[in-house]
Amino acid sequence: MLYRILVLLSIVTGAVADNYPRNEAIDIKKYTFRIELNDTTNRIAGQATIMMAIKKIIRDVELDLVQQTQEKGMTVNEVRVGNRQAIFSHKNNRLKILLPTEAAAGSEITITIHYAGIPQDGLIISKNKFGDRTFFGDNWPDRARNWLPAIDHPYDKAKVEFIVIAPPHYDVVANGARVEQSFVNSKQKLTHWSEEADIPTKVMVIGVARFAIHQAGRVGNIPVESWVYPQNKEAGYSDYQPAVKVLDFFNRFIGPYPYEKLANVQSTTIYGGMENASNIFYYENSVTGNGEIENLIAHEIAHQWFGNSASENDWHHVWLSEGFATYFTHVYNEFTYGVDRLKEGLQRDRTTVIQHCTRAPAAVIDTRITDYPKLLSPHVYQRGSWVLHMLRQEMGDEAFFTGIRNYYTRYQNSNALTSDFRLVMEAASGKTLNTFFGQWLEETNLPELTGQWAYNPAAKAISLTIEQVQPGRVFDLNLEIAIHNGTSEPVIKTVKINQKSTKTSIPVDFKPVKLELDPATKLLFKGNIRN
Ligand SMILES: [Zn+2]
Repeated sequence: MLYRILVLLSIVTGAVADNYPRNEAIDIKKYTFRIELNDTTNRIAGQATIMMAIKKIIRDVELDLVQQTQEKGMTVNEVRVGNRQAIFSHKNNRLKILLPTEAAAGSEITITIHYAGIPQDGLIISKNKFGDRTFFGDNWPDRARNWLPAIDHPYDKAKVEFIVIAPPHYDVVANGARVEQSFVNSKQKLTHWSEEADIPTKVMVIGVARFAIHQAGRVGNIPVESWVYPQNKEAGYSDYQPAVKVLDFFNRFIGPYPYEKLANVQSTTIYGGMENASNIFYYENSVTGNGEIENLIAHEIAHQWFGNSASENDWHHVWLSEGFATYFTHVYNEFTYGVDRLKEGLQRDRTTVIQHCTRAPAAVIDTRITDYPKLLSPHVYQRGSWVLHMLRQEMGDEAFFTGIRNYYTRYQNSNALTSDFRLVMEAASGKTLNTFFGQWLEETNLPELTGQWAYNPAAKAISLTIEQVQPGRVFDLNLEIAIHNGTSEPVIKTVKINQKSTKTSIPVDFKPVKLELDPATKLLFKGNIRN
């Protein structure tokens, strides 16, 4: 029942927000997390200093922080607002802080939270594959709250500083630029990183391990570094080297890289790669020495623009991250290695999408999902990527890439919904794209076409019928058809398909041997054509 109601709502309003309890009265400007780590226990001691702008008068502030149950979770010891002690409660993994005096709209307050505990998740304290102790943040989608008190949703982005106090044999990487490294005493080293751009909590992390660190190169002022396990040094440096070339491409192609450095980090992340802002974490076995991860590197680097800098404003719009990272990996390959690489990738993806649509039918924007890890499916990766490819056909290359650059410029360090993206692309193309966005992003089914043709030698024409046999909506499509004569290059015709059944006549002065749908890989559909 809920399922039907949600589907109806999404048709009526075009948007159903995810269920995060947004607080429009505040805007977090900056987090400073001081995290103390040790080698005796997995207990961390944290101090979070959170600066926020007040937009509406408030008496209290709520943050996400997973509280202690049995031996894991965080216990809050003290909260201060400015320099005054504040009363707080910690229930249902929400820390509610009563402000000593109400905060007026237009003011700014700073809250300091002292807390400690063993992270249940989010900061993974374990041994790497070589048996070395490591600490890696792994926050996506909303696991930051296991170790960081925060508004743990991408809608409220902020600057972040990490000050990590750890035993001196560790190297520490985090978001932004390293502004200090010093010894606190003979048993503790302090490492301080600072990210000046606003980023979402899903990509705010630290990585603490024994690392071999390599300056892989520079792109303009941006240092590109490889941080790998010392046991994997040569192989890791070589496998992560393509990051320089990839960063250079996107930096020129999309717009200036938004962060201070790019570190590519071997880690214990549960994902293949996790696009943490300015320090991408790759899975341990990404390092083989065989140079097999250029596509993975391209995907994660593309996320620095799409996902990290221009972030989805709502989890249901995560295709704005994953579809973009998938498509821009293909675009990188297209412009670096040739258009065949783009087509091969799209053909592979189309097969995956068709299979997935049969197995788990859903729309790209699936507002039924409340368990966010379930958002990650071929619907948002490969199908989201295909939507961009078809939008490129709809708009033409020049307008499409101009639109993409305008979208990035408009929403960098900020948030967007699909409708925001649509408006930018409409402005760049001068076209109304409502139907396009609706049929490709909100519709469960793919178009399924069955074609039938016959040649009439007297009329010198093909009579062609294309039926849309998918259930639900009738699509509006431009379908390219290749007419083969068996010897030379085929003749390509474009047919407008916007009815359940389209009948048309195509003049040709030879007897075709074969007709082929979508010869240039421009359309996401399933189906075939018969004589
Ligand atoms: Zn991704």
